[in-house]
Amino acid sequence: MHEFTPEVEALAHEVLDYSLERMRSNPPLDYPMSEAELYALAGETITADGLGGSAALKLFTEILAPACISTDHPSYLAFIPSAPSEHANLFDLVVGASALYGGSWQEGAGAVYAENQALRWLADLAGLPKSSGGVFVQGGTLGNLSALVAARHDARQRFSDVRRWVIAASRESHSSIVSAAEVMDVGTLLIPTDDNLILQGPAAALAIDEYEANHPGEKVFALVGTAGTTNLGIIDDLSGLADTASARGIWFHVDGAYGLAALCAPSVREKFNGIERCDSFIVDPHKWLFAPYDACALLYRNPEKGKRAHTQHASYLDVLENENEWNPSDYAIHLTRRPRGLPFWYSLAANGVNEYIVAMEATLKLAKEVAEQIRKHPNLNLLREPNLSVVAFTRNGWGADEYQKWSDKLLADQIGFVTPSAHRGQPILRFAIVNPWTQMSDLEAILATL
Ligand SMILES: *Cc1c(COP(=O)(O)O)cnc(C)c1O
Repeated sequence: MHEFTPEVEALAHEVLDYSLERMRSNPPLDYPMSEAELYALAGETITADGLGGSAALKLFTEILAPACISTDHPSYLAFIPSAPSEHANLFDLVVGASALYGGSWQEGAGAVYAENQALRWLADLAGLPKSSGGVFVQGGTLGNLSALVAARHDARQRFSDVRRWVIAASRESHSSIVSAAEVMDVGTLLIPTDDNLILQGPAAALAIDEYEANHPGEKVFALVGTAGTTNLGIIDDLSGLADTASARGIWFHVDGAYGLAALCAPSVREKFNGIERCDSFIVDPHKWLFAPYDACALLYRNPEKGKRAHTQHASYLDVLENENEWNPSDYAIHLTRRPRGLPFWYSLAANGVNEYIVAMEATLKLAKEVAEQIRKHPNLNLLREPNLSVVAFTRNGWGADEYQKWSDKLLADQIGFVTPSAHRGQPILRFAIVNPWTQMSDLEAILATL
């Protein structure tokens, strides 16, 4: 099992051939199967003597992989898709073959150096100071949680007599903020937005002050702004929220899991003004920065605050704590970690940032163009001008059932993957365009079914 025999060598070619073929060809969209269907086809896969490498690979390539929707398919437009660059995917193979440990400088200095270069690019785009820094974590959910834990740790040093800590965020903020509050056993203050679904700084200020006045002993310790809501790509009033947070001496976190990728796009950069004043932000390279699952970049203005909250201490770990050595484990809720930022780093290093700008602008342009098509479509209503690359619309005369049936059929016919969402209690459809491979013709094929 741990020997590189001629059989393993042969198997390596099979594995690499499959991987390259998957990358080279347009994968079908595919669709899920029930567990019973999969059991009928795949059966028991774990046996005393093993199936052998080739047979187990075949089981995966012929039965299991086709039961997974291809998230990089150009007509996958549901949720937030993924669109890893060829370079990023290739380098994921290298990372997988290399037994790299990404938790400490001592063990993974070279990998950590590279990850930190990629983090630096993001921090510079946001306008954070040179002293800022962070870490790649599994996803935005964990990134938001880690940032908010650091925020509370910081608040505990500065505010006393607090009976209950509270996170303030917009009603439109991502579900992971409420999830973080649950995990942390803190309260949430979900503040209504303006008519454009934007959380404004003054509204947040009023809501926080009123909440604290009405709830003695409770203290808002963090204000979360969203830079690109998942549903509609709305960006909160980041400058105003920064004012509100700094006037109260509380942490300003920006959840940009999807939207902050567009920091590198000159055409929309100014929408993010104010981001430079945050205490922390996240962005998921696995969403709109062309990296494979799973990677979220978490950046702190003052990384010492992240470190104070998150460093684990133990007799067997303290040997790793040396000044001037960056230990990624110290900046989030994790210890052992894969250097999951490396595929993103490699793609950036290999292609250069200009390629990122071109790809990003292409997706933004396509979103604008398809919005125009939807506006002209006799049966459709554009919900609003796309703010980033999410285009939301409704179909005349349809209720929730019709949307769902249409979505199911679209996937069954392998034309596209578009799932219904909701806005103000009404069902909507949305195209989340993050894949430079998506063409207008892909979108038109979907519009033609509406
Ligand atoms: C996707 C998303 C998250 C959660 O990120 P995961 O990587 O799925 O955990 C958080 N916030 C926003 C705005 C998102 O779009």
